[in-house]
Amino acid sequence: MIPSPGERAAQTPEDSVAPDLGADPGRTYRLGIMGGTFDPIHNGHLVTAQQASDDLNLDLVLFMPAGSPAFKQDRDVSGPEDRFAMTLLATADNPLFMASRLEIDREGITYTVDTLEELRKRCPENVELYFITGADAIIDIISWHRAERIAEIATLVGATRPGYDLAWAKAAIEGSGIPFDVRYLEVPALAISSSYLRDRTHSGQSIRYLTKDSVIGYIQKRGLYRGARA
Ligand code: NAP
Repeated sequence: MIPSPGERAAQTPEDSVAPDLGADPGRTYRLGIMGGTFDPIHNGHLVTAQQASDDLNLDLVLFMPAGSPAFKQDRDVSGPEDRFAMTLLATADNPLFMASRLEIDREGITYTVDTLEELRKRCPENVELYFITGADAIIDIISWHRAERIAEIATLVGATRPGYDLAWAKAAIEGSGIPFDVRYLEVPALAISSSYLRDRTHSGQSIRYLTKDSVIGYIQKRGLYRGARA
């Protein structure tokens, strides 16, 4: 059984993948890994994960806040515990979703390949990995750490807003010679972005209906995004 939201909150990093995923050797399971900074998590991320689950028949989506994002060393990012807490709050009411501490508990710069290798080790062979993130990020995949290994372990899912021109990105990925399996997903709700929520909070505007009320409460309580901009 997939654990209840209450059980999830008490999980340790070691058991952050649902224990019965892959339990029936007679079938294939699909695990989605929703990678992002989630500073903060918003409804666009939640809709993306739900749409990916529906379109790709995922059995579970692990939301994976990046510990120390590889390409964000030059901007102030909220602390990993705050981003994890908001992710946990936002995902708690959906039995298909789970928040993972795997990346925030790992020291050093967060590389996706390390996460995927760890999950590959922890999951039985009949569990396929689908790494979901923004298409803007997927476009750079060729330059990611050990990109060839990522292509071996996981299918990539790039989420975009409708009308986003992917032609040159597709050409670059195909031209790389690395056999990536990339699926693209149009998500209208991705008109929402974390920077939009940060900017609105900074200028005292409401972010109601852009993310969960529980996340808004947490942002207010912790005073996030009010200070000087990086
Ligand atoms: P980013 O550059 O901040 O995001 C690029 C775009 O994608 C933004 O519009 C962002 O919107 C959107 N986005 C990010 N995560 C998303 C998600 N899960 N679903 C839908 N849209 C999403 O990207 P990032 O957050 O730093 O990195 C994304 C993922 O790629 C992370 O898991 C990160 O660890 C991984 N990554 C790995 C490497 C590496 O291994 N070398 C390098 C770069 C990134 P929002 O700002 O609204 O989220």
